[in-house]
Amino acid sequence: MRILLVEDDAQIGSAIASALDDAGMAADWVTDGSAALASVDAGAFELMLLDIGLPKRDGFSVLKQLRQNGSTIPVIMITARDGVDDRIQGLDMGADDYLVKPFLINELLARVRAVARRHSGRSQPFMAGGDLMLDPSNKKVTYKESELDLTAREYRLLQALLSSPGRIYSREELEEKVYGWEDEVNSNAIEFLIHGLRKKTSKQAIRNVRGLGWMVPET
Ligand code: CA
Repeated sequence: MRILLVEDDAQIGSAIASALDDAGMAADWVTDGSAALASVDAGAFELMLLDIGLPKRDGFSVLKQLRQNGSTIPVIMITARDGVDDRIQGLDMGADDYLVKPFLINELLARVRAVARRHSGRSQPFMAGGDLMLDPSNKKVTYKESELDLTAREYRLLQALLSSPGRIYSREELEEKVYGWEDEVNSNAIEFLIHGLRKKTSKQAIRNVRGLGWMVPET
């Protein structure tokens, strides 16, 4: 899952970015409101963490513009402790949830998972496709009930495929979900990851649809 983090406080921003990374989510981090809007246009983000007090455009202005543009990206606002009016305004403007500063990283991660789950129409906390099962809360992935030892990128790739079993993902879509802006992506990087995943599971676990991309079967 790729997340856009919009936070101008360097300390908070780097703490969140590294926690998201540890949790298997690819976070791209920008520090002002204009960059946030440009990034949503440019990238395939599945969720935005949006601070309110930002340079150039504040969080409300970003949110308003996003929704006016028709973007349905889920947004979690980051608000100040005494900002109850901010929270109400944010939710009414189309935010999906909020976090109150200071918050525990574990709460942030749980809210990210919950909002992503609701947005994708899943009510079950785990993701499944074929004989694969992924639990985002503890990053545990099993195939035919035995636990897999995955690299961070293999995990992200599988999470992307399992967010919609039966749907075919193209190479470009998977690259966007697995890699951040700063990553160098080789032209056969996705094939390489798929190859590794198949070795840990089976050829049937991740299917190749020639010329189109890859999918995991529905359970
Ligand atoms: Ca701020």
